[in-house]
Amino acid sequence: MDSLNNGWFSELQADLWPGQSFSLKVKEVIHKEKSRFQDIQIVETETYGRCLILDGIIQCTARDEFSYQEMISFLPLCAHPNPKKVLIVGGGDGGVAREVVKHPLVEEVHQVEIDDRVVELSKQYLPAMACGFANEKLKLTIGDGFDYMKKHKNEFDVIITDSSDPIGPAVSLFQESYYELMKHALKEDGIVCSQGGSFWLDLDYIKKTMSGCKEHFAKVAYAVTSVPSYPCGHIGFVMGSLNKNQDFATPKLGKSEIDAIDLRYYSSEVHSAAFALPRWVQKHFYE
Ligand code: SAM
Repeated sequence: MDSLNNGWFSELQADLWPGQSFSLKVKEVIHKEKSRFQDIQIVETETYGRCLILDGIIQCTARDEFSYQEMISFLPLCAHPNPKKVLIVGGGDGGVAREVVKHPLVEEVHQVEIDDRVVELSKQYLPAMACGFANEKLKLTIGDGFDYMKKHKNEFDVIITDSSDPIGPAVSLFQESYYELMKHALKEDGIVCSQGGSFWLDLDYIKKTMSGCKEHFAKVAYAVTSVPSYPCGHIGFVMGSLNKNQDFATPKLGKSEIDAIDLRYYSSEVHSAAFALPRWVQKHFYE
């Protein structure tokens, strides 16, 4: 099936999301190419603004990207008492880098993205996100996140994995062995946070990822945010901490310091609420 039909783009991922498909009305196809790693499309939509699509899956839209980018960044950064050195894996649109550099204690940000074409096209067509690449705290490496992790030991306070879904080049970033590598790349009491799918769609898959994380991290949690252009309008984050006394739900940065940061979605209240899960999900993940 063609994912662009009569002016509508539809996500046709029968394996990942059986029997459902989110669609956006497209005004214009801005760019289309096949890189070494994936199909890349950038389209202008009628109601969500500009949109990046990789292998037929929506990655971000201008209208709602801030929810995802702020939450995947600030949940782990504010759960850590002193997140000086941060690693971002993936994140080729630049939105997570744009957010991470805003945290007042962050001094150095390293990013490893597999596909230089996503970065270049984002700079050209998605400047409101790609502005993250221009920050002087950021050092970008083009390469595979899994391989990069093997070469770094005891280095980062926080690792954020802003990957695409577990098909194509991102498959390795959902494996248990990836959590083991991240553990070794972290400093004492380090924290990881990965894009983890929606509990409406992937309950067993998320549980499996959390079990993989539990093998290597003293504390594990799952937090959620609302992103209308993701399947079910919803996405979660799998978080792990090496600190056995970790309290994920209470931000370490004070409320007034958080309020002073230029953010649209994340706040101290939203942080704590993100860890509150419906009873059936709570039971499935933690009992
Ligand atoms: N917010 C998005 C979402 O969850 O839909 C993810 C956005 S970001 C564009 C995902 C990035 O991960 C892509 O640019 C892709 O090239 C990158 N990526 C996928 N596999 C990777 C790997 N093994 N190492 C590094 N980057 C990877």
